[in-house]
Amino acid sequence: MTRRILHVDYSLCIGCETCEGVCDFIHGGRPNIKVYYTITGIPVPINCRHCEKAPCMDVCPAGAIYRDSDGAVIINPNKCIGCLMCLAACPFGVPTFDVKLKAVTKCDMCADRRRLGTAPACAEMCPAGAIFFGKPEEVEEKVRRRTAEKIARERLAAVNLEGVGRML
Ligand code: SF4
Ligand code: SF4
Repeated sequence: MTRRILHVDYSLCIGCETCEGVCDFIHGGRPNIKVYYTITGIPVPINCRHCEKAPCMDVCPAGAIYRDSDGAVIINPNKCIGCLMCLAACPFGVPTFDVKLKAVTKCDMCADRRRLGTAPACAEMCPAGAIFFGKPEEVEEKVRRRTAEKIARERLAAVNLEGVGRML
């Protein structure tokens, strides 16, 4: 198994809701990523973390939740008995009960797209580059680089301001 992760960098999110829109389109009006807002208006996209130790998988008494070859946590709707134990166990409030399907559903990390070798749609479409998909070490490297660039930009801005202050 080559583990892949889907990481959202909240500091880069601009609240455009493209991720939610594209997920809604792909999943027939049932988006698996949702953009919430703090009381001060900061956007926070919430999606399944495909946790390394997934509480939803641990509590499912029907064995309906499993991990696929990329490490994504998947629900098999045919095995789901609708007990809602995974809803109670997920710390992020991710799984939802689909009344039509009579089963719980959640993000499958765009399994169909992954089979074709493409990234999940939210990661592919985010215009701010706030959603990273890849091997853990690749994502870690990207996050490290972004953080370093941010610190460098802030330091440069501080130095420039100091220079302007001295000229006045
Ligand atoms: S698409 Fe990207 S920038 Fe837009 S809301 Fe989603 S995470 Fe934020
Ligand atoms: S549904 Fe919740 S507990 Fe399960 S893998 Fe996703 S974030 Fe983790």
